[in-house]
Amino acid sequence: MPVEIVIASRNPKKRVELEALLRGLDVRVIGADSFPEVPDVVEDGATFLDNARKKAFAFARALGKIALGDDSGLEVDALGRAPGVKSHRFAGPTASDADNNRLLLERLRGVPHARRTARFRCAAVVAWPDGSSIESEGSCEGVILEAPRGSAGFGYDPLFLSPEHDKTFAELSSDAKNETSHRARALARLREKLIERLSRAS
Ligand code: IMP
Repeated sequence: MPVEIVIASRNPKKRVELEALLRGLDVRVIGADSFPEVPDVVEDGATFLDNARKKAFAFARALGKIALGDDSGLEVDALGRAPGVKSHRFAGPTASDADNNRLLLERLRGVPHARRTARFRCAAVVAWPDGSSIESEGSCEGVILEAPRGSAGFGYDPLFLSPEHDKTFAELSSDAKNETSHRARALARLREKLIERLSRAS
């Protein structure tokens, strides 16, 4: 019998990435949209890991089910690692991806290419209703371009150049992004821990 895991995210694009990264495991993934009664978590943690824990435990406790929460964002060196945990709401509480990208370009105006280094970070947590959890983190280095390129993905993808591919994340296919992204790296580690934990439970 597959184990049910609730994905504690209402972002459909992110959920698709998380589902793809869990593929092949004996789990049945359920989206958070199936549970509108679980209130949205206030993402006020000081770190990505704090927020990922909050999301995973909010769903695990409310539903009595295993839940996977992740939190991620962009750190830009020239901005003192901003927007960091505030990536989603960089340009304000109701900011769109386009608003956030515009503000990022504005803050980096005049900063030369060599100093536009940045990284995406992701923390991922699987929480059980009994209070136990497994955790992992991943990151991915890149450079913030001066203008957007590409239309795939979400968030800051069109501005984030992956030097490894010489393409932005928005120019990569979802398979290529899922091979190298911060979320892929965090999830690959989490996957190993999950396999071990599930094999102990069976
Ligand atoms: P959260 O993890 O849902 O809180 O998302 C944080 C924010 O970080 C997103 O709204 C995006 O702006 C940004 N972000 C996280 N992961 C990615 C990614 O893979 N590509 C582009 N932006 C991302």
